Amino acid sequence: MIDRRDFLRLGTGAALSLAAGAQSAPPAASAQPRIRRYVRLGRTGLEISDISFGSASSSDPALIRYALDRGVNYFDTAESYRFGYAEEAMGAALLGIRDKVVLASKTKAGAAHTRTQMMQALEGSLRRLKTDHVDVYFNHAVNDIKRLQNEEWREFTEIAKRQGKIRFRGLSGHGSHLIECLDYAIEHDLVDVVLVAYNFGQDPDFYDKLRHTFHFVAMQPGLPQVLERAKQKDIGVIAMKTLMGARLNDMRPYEGPGVTFAQAAFRWVLASPRVDALLISMTSKDEIAEYVGASGHAEVSQDDLRLLGIYAALHAASYCQHGCNVCEGSCPQDVPIAEVLRTRMYAVDYRNMSLARTDYAQLGGGANACLACAHQRCLTACPKGIPIARFTRDAALRLA
Ligand code: SF4
Ligand code: SF4
Repeated sequence: MIDRRDFLRLGTGAALSLAAGAQSAPPAASAQPRIRRYVRLGRTGLEISDISFGSASSSDPALIRYALDRGVNYFDTAESYRFGYAEEAMGAALLGIRDKVVLASKTKAGAAHTRTQMMQALEGSLRRLKTDHVDVYFNHAVNDIKRLQNEEWREFTEIAKRQGKIRFRGLSGHGSHLIECLDYAIEHDLVDVVLVAYNFGQDPDFYDKLRHTFHFVAMQPGLPQVLERAKQKDIGVIAMKTLMGARLNDMRPYEGPGVTFAQAAFRWVLASPRVDALLISMTSKDEIAEYVGASGHAEVSQDDLRLLGIYAALHAASYCQHGCNVCEGSCPQDVPIAEVLRTRMYAVDYRNMSLARTDYAQLGGGANACLACAHQRCLTACPKGIPIARFTRDAALRLA
């Protein structure tokens, strides 16, 4: 049996030879792939493309129209994406065809925000989107239960629904307190839809399937359970962060014709009964063709599993799992380790510096304390072996 550390020590060349069926060239995308499956988004009754458009990393109206032409009909944005330009691009792309799509946007409604402030944020989004309503309006990146306990959010969403400015309300989350926030929102009937970080690396079933080949640490059994509770209440579930860090280029040598790592990762998520659909940032026509090519497949093949296993072997030890908070309390200076590592992922893996800097700036002192930390008590706090101190310091140097 080869464990993960052995695999990593062997390096990429040996990993290539270990990976049965490895290929030397990137796969050719089939011509003009299209969305092949539309799914019911829980109690909303909306029918949306199983693979849908996220705009955190692009603000190009032409790309949005291209995705629409490929059959994508759910478009997600947020007031904070690209400093408002993502919403403006969406508004420009959907002018005259707004009724053909399901449109979602988000605001970070805080624990002390009033319904008036929330309404102002929504109206700003509607102006940029050039529409009179969004179909789903999310409380964005919720990682603190106090934001959900603010009754102003519930009141605001009820008023906005009555005024026809939103049809459904949701919660998006990918932080260290994701599970407790989801639990609270589900329990208190605060959501029609949840948008959550969920990928094969967060699914204990994935590690079960590979346990004869590699030893991995499954760290988040709570997330599948809370998503199952959401499904029991017929809440729509959309997955994001489905690529576990999205190091797509690292995987090209292992891919074969018609099977890419991204497609395998999407199939894993879409095969789950816990999830209705997924969102992915689409930044080029080639990406759209590749991503949409996985639509309609809700089964995971052996080839898919092989690719996911290789990816996990290469990257599990550097990927901070969304929703995990096992290392909380290991830092005497209260550095928010998981949140800092997420912003570093945006910078290093996604190469999205604007998103990385925007989110890092919201972390107070961020990882500044790490620059002068001698004791590094966090060093052994991650069961996956993530070198926390090295990564948090690196984040501070890149993003402070
Ligand atoms: S560094 Fe490790 S323990 Fe800490 S949140 Fe990330 S995955 Fe979990
Ligand atoms: S390096 Fe020091 S300051 Fe930074 S997270 Fe670790 S223990 Fe905290």
